[in-house]
Amino acid sequence: MTIASTSSSTSAELRNANRRRVLHAVYEQIGISKQDLSQRLSMSLPTVTQNLKEFEAMGLIERRGLCESTGGRKAQIYHFVSDARVAIGAILLKEFYRIVMVDLYGNVLKAERFPTPFARTPAYFEQLGQNIRTFISGLTYRPDQILGAAIALQGLVSHDGTSVIYGEILKCTGLTLDEVQPYIPYPCVLIHDTEASATAEVWAQNDLKDAVLLSLTRNFGGALIISGEVHRGRELSSSVIEHMRLYPNGRPCYCGRKGCIEAYCSAYALQLSAGEPLEQFFPAMRQGSPERTQIWHHYLQDLAIAINNIRMLMDTEYIIGGFLQKFMDDQDFLLLARYVNQECPFQSAPVHLRRSVFSDDAAAPGAAISLIKQYLCSF
Ligand SMILES: [Zn+2]
Repeated sequence: MTIASTSSSTSAELRNANRRRVLHAVYEQIGISKQDLSQRLSMSLPTVTQNLKEFEAMGLIERRGLCESTGGRKAQIYHFVSDARVAIGAILLKEFYRIVMVDLYGNVLKAERFPTPFARTPAYFEQLGQNIRTFISGLTYRPDQILGAAIALQGLVSHDGTSVIYGEILKCTGLTLDEVQPYIPYPCVLIHDTEASATAEVWAQNDLKDAVLLSLTRNFGGALIISGEVHRGRELSSSVIEHMRLYPNGRPCYCGRKGCIEAYCSAYALQLSAGEPLEQFFPAMRQGSPERTQIWHHYLQDLAIAINNIRMLMDTEYIIGGFLQKFMDDQDFLLLARYVNQECPFQSAPVHLRRSVFSDDAAAPGAAISLIKQYLCSF
């Protein structure tokens, strides 16, 4: 009895492993024949055929075109269907929200911005749900192709993605999925915005192993990436670097304390120091305004202190993301690196700063990608 059940569970495991290997091999190749798959995976042709059939039935794989051949019957080419499933991602911000749809490769198929300020009210979530419906209605996806909607917001989210444990910026501490889900036509999950951005970054940069993402959006966000995965703490999500103290008794922060990184290194903090929108500040600074240049250099020095503090714990790469990096040119990156190196008390290797691959906020695509990752890992 025991032996029989062990052997049946082993054969089920083997079947699942074969299934996964076939799917992942087709996913990673741009077109491959059954024969090449069999060779590449050292798997019998009938096993490959059986798995391909199953994935074709699910719509995940299709046959398109024939292999070039020097003789005999040409082999059919199998392709992964990039939009066989899609996922919705949203980022809810203080002034507006953004909805995106991504395919199974994480490509953004559609994105739209809605100028509605956040409000923890049924009317707001009803509008969000309605806009998600309208957003999808022009496309040809069946409901079963849509994996779900991941909603990123500025707040720390519980491990199971069902509630906000700290959401001071949006005044939404305690928000639960029960307030949102009834209005959204797909399975929903909540996600911390910086964690979503880091997920997008890891997805887009294959070579990323250990890194710290510093997201210079309206509010500062930081996330730790360890061994190619976004680190999740026990309660504090993927870290709350923004509330590390930079200056004791410094500027007030929205968390109620004083001197946090947020109060010096967020895009909003820079805007407050500048006394004007960043869209005006940067062009005027580039034209040689000495006051603005001083404000900017001061900002970069504060950011350098923040990076140096984190670097004392994690000497790794630093990814500069968020919309503020759009305004930063290569000289700014060199200057920031110089400031960080000056802060370091040791003669060590220079800090390695990397620009985020996302020119804008990565939270909405990252939220959707978290669902895609989950789906692909389910095989
Ligand atoms: Zn704070």
